[in-house]
Amino acid sequence: AKTEGKDTYRYFEASMGAEARDKRVMEHELRQAVARKEFYLVYQPQKEISSGKMVGFEALIRWRHPTRGDVPPTIFIPVAEDSGAIGQIGEWVLTAACEEAARWENPLTVAVNVSAVQLHNPNFSRKVHETLLNSGLAPGRLELEITETALVKDMPRALATLRQVKALGVRVAMDDFGTGYSSLSNLRAFPFDKIKIDGSFIKSVDKNGQVAAIVRAVLGLGRGLGLPVLAEGVETLGELKFLDAEACEIGQGYYIGRPGLIEEFSELTGVDAPT
Ligand code: C2E
Ligand code: CA
Ligand code: CA
Ligand code: CA
Repeated sequence: AKTEGKDTYRYFEASMGAEARDKRVMEHELRQAVARKEFYLVYQPQKEISSGKMVGFEALIRWRHPTRGDVPPTIFIPVAEDSGAIGQIGEWVLTAACEEAARWENPLTVAVNVSAVQLHNPNFSRKVHETLLNSGLAPGRLELEITETALVKDMPRALATLRQVKALGVRVAMDDFGTGYSSLSNLRAFPFDKIKIDGSFIKSVDKNGQVAAIVRAVLGLGRGLGLPVLAEGVETLGELKFLDAEACEIGQGYYIGRPGLIEEFSELTGVDAPT
């Protein structure tokens, strides 16, 4: 019977294919990665375009795998979302980002990405509240970035959560605007404080009339709704100049500042590298 079991297992493995097997290994590793302190955060500047003034940072997770090196979030976040590990990982991100931001000399905003799984957890707003109290971070300095895809799973639940975190004084930004569907009704239905235009619309916006028309329309939408617009993925001076001329409020991207360890921004935060 033992041999039979082994053969059955082997058959199962073979039928799964290499990709599914890799995914299973990664799910297992992700469940241990928080305890093993394999995650860290990098921060990317967000600046007011008209003045060049820093307004905040987006916190972006990094996973230093003990043997595979840095694994990009575009690879491991979807795996963590499927397996449920994102709950624990998301809590780690929120705690680490709030604790770090509370130590900065300047009261800059810290923007944290929130996945659909976190947003639909009925305890989410309570966890945000506890994290703010424990870290001492002023609620107005925390911004949660939420994609439209995260809203659609259970809209009434997502709306309830957004209202709860907003009642704490936390701000919410619609992330990756333009890449989801029914963007316009979502803007009306949910109490967002900011629109983040996806980087795919910023690429060559200064050279492509069609893309420029879309970005102008989003900026008009933001103006009409009284919501500031942040353009992400700003990679060139030409793109930045276009956005400035069109009065886009905030910019983020490699041309404005690459994501880096917080100590690389010590002139703004006063946080130096550990000695
Ligand atoms: P996102 O939220 O849209 O984050 C912006 C991504 O664009 C980041 O990639 C950033 O490094 C990259 N980026 C910034 N400026 C430029 C630019 O000028 N050009 C280009 N081509 N890319 C730029 P990253 O850090 O690899 O993160 C990828 C995605 O992974 C994020 O997209 C977000 O969806 C997810 N993610 C990252 N950190 C977290 C996290 O803590 N929690 C959750 N749930 N998701 C996260
Ligand atoms: Ca984001
Ligand atoms: Ca984004
Ligand atoms: Ca994006």
